Order: sequence, then C-alpha cells, then structure tokens
Amino acid sequence: MKKTLTKNMVRQAVEEAYNETKTLTGGKNADYIPFLANINPDLFGLSLTLPDGEQFNFGDTDYRFGIESVSKVLTAILILKECGAEAVLRKIGADATGLPFNSIFAILLENDHPSTPLVNAGAISACSMVEPKGDSDAKWQKIINNFTDLCGSEAPLLDELYKSESATNFNNRAITWLLRDYNRIYDDPDMSLDLYTRQCSVGITAQQLSVCAATIANKGFNPVTKKQVFDESLAPKITTLISSVGFYQHTGDWLYTSGIPAKSGVGGGVLGVLPGVFGVAAFAPPLDVAGNSVKAQAAVKAIMNKLGLGVFNGDQVEITD
Ligand code: GLU
Repeated sequence: MKKTLTKNMVRQAVEEAYNETKTLTGGKNADYIPFLANINPDLFGLSLTLPDGEQFNFGDTDYRFGIESVSKVLTAILILKECGAEAVLRKIGADATGLPFNSIFAILLENDHPSTPLVNAGAISACSMVEPKGDSDAKWQKIINNFTDLCGSEAPLLDELYKSESATNFNNRAITWLLRDYNRIYDDPDMSLDLYTRQCSVGITAQQLSVCAATIANKGFNPVTKKQVFDESLAPKITTLISSVGFYQHTGDWLYTSGIPAKSGVGGGVLGVLPGVFGVAAFAPPLDVAGNSVKAQAAVKAIMNKLGLGVFNGDQVEITD
C-alpha cells in the first residue's frame, strides 16, 4: 500500500514523541566505564533527518556524547567498502549472538567465529581488517574520515573517555586475545583493540548520528554533503546487520515492537534506519539491563507508532512538503 505523510506530520510526531518521553524515569548510566557513570542522566535529545536533509531536532541534540557501540555500524560500513560483503561474512560473520555485547561465551559457542561486526568481538576484528595493515595512524585516519563522511561533519575523540575506557577494558582484552588464538584478528591484536577503544570514545551528537542514519536510509547518499559515501548495493547488508543484532539480546523484541532497525550504544545513543524513508537518532544516558537507552528506545518507538510505520509493513512511504 502507498502511504503518504507530510513533513509537518513527521515533525509533529517527533515533537510529541520527545515531549511524551522526556519525563520517563528508569534505567541507569553505564558504570563499568567510569567516565560514562558521571554524565548528566537528564540529558535527552531526539533528531530525525529526512532524505532531502531536512532535520527535526528536540532537546539536547548538539550535546557530544560517547558514540560507543554505535561506532560498530560505521566501521562495518568501512570494511564492507574496503573488503566487500563476502569477505566480511567469511572473516567475521553476520549472525545474531543472542547474548550480551561483550560475551566471551558467544565466541566459544560460535566455534571460533566473532559472529557479526556489531558486537565487541566482531567490531575488534573489523578494526583489524581496516587497511593499511600495521599502520595504526593511517588506519585511524580511515576510520575517522569514514565517520565524517557518514555524519556530514567531524566528530572529535573524547580524550577523557578514551583514557577511562582504555584503563578498564579488561574484558575486551580477553576477547581480543581469544580471537587471536582463533585467527580472527587480521592485524596486530593490541593495535586492533586500541582502534576499537578509540572509535568507541568518539564524541558524537544526535544531529550527526541522525545524518548518518539518513545516509544509510538513502543507500549511501549523504543528504547534507550530497556525497555518495558507499555503494548502493551495500545498503541492504548494513541494514541486515543492524536488524539482526542492533539491540544485543533484546534485538528481536525491539524490532517486533518498534518496526525499525536500530543500533544502540552504552553512551545512551540509538541510531535508527527506516530504509528509503528517514534516519533517526536519540540520546539519553540511563540504560536498561541489556545496555540500551530507556528514553531513546521509547522516543524512537513513539515516532514509529504515531506515524504507523514499520520496516516490514509492506508500505511504500512518501513524505511530501
Ligand atoms: N566500548 C564499549 C565496550 O566495549 C561499547 C559497548 C556498547 O556500547 O555496547 O564495552
């Protein structure tokens, strides 16, 4: 069925979703990374970007928070571009783990496979695949330039967060060396982990994440810079990865109730992609037990419900002036 919405209807849905969810309580900041425990838990921003670049922003959408796991989507795109979809499937995988984001058990269960670039194991492995091998600075430049391309503007490293995370990432060190034992780290293990930790420590705004989401929804065409960032053929691969594991062990419940493929991070960010329709991002630090932002989830879900949209609804959606 064809479904026509006006821009004003979309803007109103975002505003209502923001107002209805801003007083929600529940959840708590991630505290296994000391820096994140101290972020103001009342911060809340909601941003939606249309395919033509028009953006609707409510709340703290220009506050720079830790991108954390949402970075996994961006670097997955980079290695899909550099190495191709087949190599990513063969060297990492595209399977949901059904387990927490930092699970070592998941690696053992998958018989030595990191599963997907969107959990810690696969994301560290993804950083090891970035070219050129052996050159940490050049690899970092690639990673961060790709962030700029996708988000439409630069995102700086949050030094304090990087230090905090580097000093406490013992579990990720264990993951890295287990993967090394299974030959699933394709460069120096310590360097690969450091690149992963750095990319998680990038400070991003909800406005930037929303542009990134819209670029994915637009099959690689960034609506702000008008640059084609990745080949159109990769768009379904990226959305598949997000759909299957974006909310960790709660991904099925999320997709079932919200209708939008989305990726969360323990910094409180959520990036949602409705292919061909829009990109959305929300940010609020308090998390549920799986590590997904309580308010960000509620706000994105509210937009979808208000507009009657869903990735599996079978509707052809048009947004008019
Ligand atoms: N840097 C975090 C970690 O490795 C990211 C986790 C997340 O956002 O899910 O634990």
